[in-house]
Amino acid sequence: EGPGRMLEPQAIIEALQALQSNSLLAGKKFLITAGPTREPLDPVRFITNRSSGKMGFALAETALEQGADVSLVCGPVQLQTDSRIRRIDIETALQMHEKVQELISSQDIFIACAAVADYRPAEEQPEKIKKSTEQTEIKLVRNPDIVEQARQTAPHVYTVGFAAETTELAQHAQQKLVNKGLDMIIANQVGKSAGDSGFDSDFNTVEVFWEGGQQSYSRELKKHLATLLIELIAQQYNNKKDYHSNVRYIETQTH
Ligand code: C5P
Repeated sequence: EGPGRMLEPQAIIEALQALQSNSLLAGKKFLITAGPTREPLDPVRFITNRSSGKMGFALAETALEQGADVSLVCGPVQLQTDSRIRRIDIETALQMHEKVQELISSQDIFIACAAVADYRPAEEQPEKIKKSTEQTEIKLVRNPDIVEQARQTAPHVYTVGFAAETTELAQHAQQKLVNKGLDMIIANQVGKSAGDSGFDSDFNTVEVFWEGGQQSYSRELKKHLATLLIELIAQQYNNKKDYHSNVRYIETQTH
């Protein structure tokens, strides 16, 4: 009772939602992939990598806080999500690919943050593989490139990729920006030279490239970095949209 009384929770939520509706991202549809994939060898073994999913989950939470409608397709990770995020758990790269293809056409922005296995075992053995000879071989086959194919299916979606590199970060990232036909690429150093940053860490150090621009961010907590990255993505997405509507306007005036 009185001036110090807390507002009803519903009133607080509504006040916050009103703030969000001013955001650049209000109502925008985001699809984000996060975490590793698991590629099964037999019923008990698989090939995977050290991705924790933390960066992708931080991006998903930040986009949600900015008023976006967020779908998150993620591999096996030890992380919780806000109930307002549409979370789809998958295991393999093929399952992630199928989900992304199903959802991509209705999105505004796609952020491919997952560390997708490039290869999968050619066959999944139905029974546990027994040890016998001193040496053995596993045949691997290429997985589809999820972000590249999403780009082809839905060229209108603003598409952001990640590039985890151990050497020549900028050069490799810029090549991927062009080869995969992305709008933006966020590159981070991984491996021993990265220290406590990148895979399996709460921190990340990134360099971002897009056509005609670049921006570096020094080592930051992933949660804080996510805020800066979502802001940059929103700006660039809006610039691209404005550019295309100006081109359409000029075309209609000149025809
Ligand atoms: O070529 P590389 O794996 O380094 O590219 C990284 C980017 O491509 C990331 O955005 C990752 O999520 C995406 N990727 C993908 N499908 C793959 C491999 C990578 O979507 N099979």
